[in-house]
Amino acid sequence: MRQSRLFGKTLREDPKDEVSINAKLLERGGFVYKTMAGVYDYLPLGFRVLRKIESIIREEIDAVGGQELFLTALQPRDRWEKTKRWDALKDIMYQFKDKSGREMGLAATHEEALAEISTRSIFSYRDLPLFVYQIQTKFRDEPRAKSGLIRGREFLMKDLYSFHRDEASLNEFYEKADGAYRSIFKRCGLTAYVTEASGGTFTKQFTHEYQVLSDAGEDWTVYCGHCGYAQNKEISSLKDDDTCPKCGDVMKMARSIEVGNIFKLGTKFSEAFGLLYADEKGEKRPVVMGSYGIGPGRLLGTIVEVHNDERGILWPESISPFRVHLIEIPGKMSPETVKKEAEKMYGDLVAKGAEVLYDDRVGLSAGEKFADADLIGIPWRVVISEKTLEKKGVEVKKRGEKAAIVMKEKDFLKML
Ligand code: ATP
Ligand code: MG
Repeated sequence: MRQSRLFGKTLREDPKDEVSINAKLLERGGFVYKTMAGVYDYLPLGFRVLRKIESIIREEIDAVGGQELFLTALQPRDRWEKTKRWDALKDIMYQFKDKSGREMGLAATHEEALAEISTRSIFSYRDLPLFVYQIQTKFRDEPRAKSGLIRGREFLMKDLYSFHRDEASLNEFYEKADGAYRSIFKRCGLTAYVTEASGGTFTKQFTHEYQVLSDAGEDWTVYCGHCGYAQNKEISSLKDDDTCPKCGDVMKMARSIEVGNIFKLGTKFSEAFGLLYADEKGEKRPVVMGSYGIGPGRLLGTIVEVHNDERGILWPESISPFRVHLIEIPGKMSPETVKKEAEKMYGDLVAKGAEVLYDDRVGLSAGEKFADADLIGIPWRVVISEKTLEKKGVEVKKRGEKAAIVMKEKDFLKML
């Protein structure tokens, strides 16, 4: 991609109305545009990162048997009355009447929808277990939408729902989902603690949350850095410096961001919607359900909160918008030669299938181009200038490292 053609430009200064690091950096870097508090548009750079996060999620969820579908945001009131959540959720759910006076709302979650829809797919024990998921837009009228992508009012959720004949089958899948979640967060460059937490309006049982330590978080996690045992502070009796009940090391308490969670729902939703299956004897029983959420946008925001320095973002390679940031610095002596070499290397990289952002913009100083490169945060910076041509190579620097080295173009391609 030629940076001169890129939709979305970097900003010189932090946007005034943002307090969170992720929103400041993502807006300044041209990744997102803020439409309202908690409502962000993804521009091409941001959308590339989002798509990479989503494909990691799809790979891991498909691997445990997930089938992808896509449900509506617009929901009729009656559906939510079946579980009495129309009132329970009224503070955060957008609820309104259409022109003919029908009451409806925008889905804040999809347990009700899936429990109803499943009555056309699940009849017998032979149909179970089943796992379906979507990556879809949720709406929640969040009272404090000040954390950029971490707390949106319109945001994406990967929500997975599982259907089982009994608790044993649910428990078996719950473990698999946990494994998938651990690898999703790891592949996105995050260390997530799995905490025990309360189930809110979903369930009375304990649930599990995936918490990433960060000062930008709204949760508190008590954790053991040695064995990884952790609890959400809300339900924990453990404090800072207490002894870890698992390994005897010392527990610490820190702010954290919930990037995902998994719930055992039991039969609450299936009973409300008459979602029953016939067992081997033909006896009807309620389906046992689980639900599993991840916020891809929150994940993106969290990655920025964890991987940044005073100059900008440091994307992990797995989800970086591009792998290489190729920068031409034409100079005064032989600008055409530099340009020609840079164009040639851009062509070589593209031919090799490397994802490259090529800073071919004219009229910017080297300092301005480097500042933008640090802000945007692509892992490999490659500079072509008069100086590097003299040395018969290109200057390669890893984002976050000080030292740059000059190497031959073909050695760099090989290294990639
Ligand atoms: P929180 O306590 O932070 O509000 P939640 O418990 O309401 O989160 P769930 O309803 O379980 O979250 O949603 C599943 C996942 O969706 C969360 O783990 C999070 O990653 C993401 N998510 C939830 N709310 C938001 C939001 N307002 N903006 C972005 N992502 C969100
Ligand atoms: Mg919430």
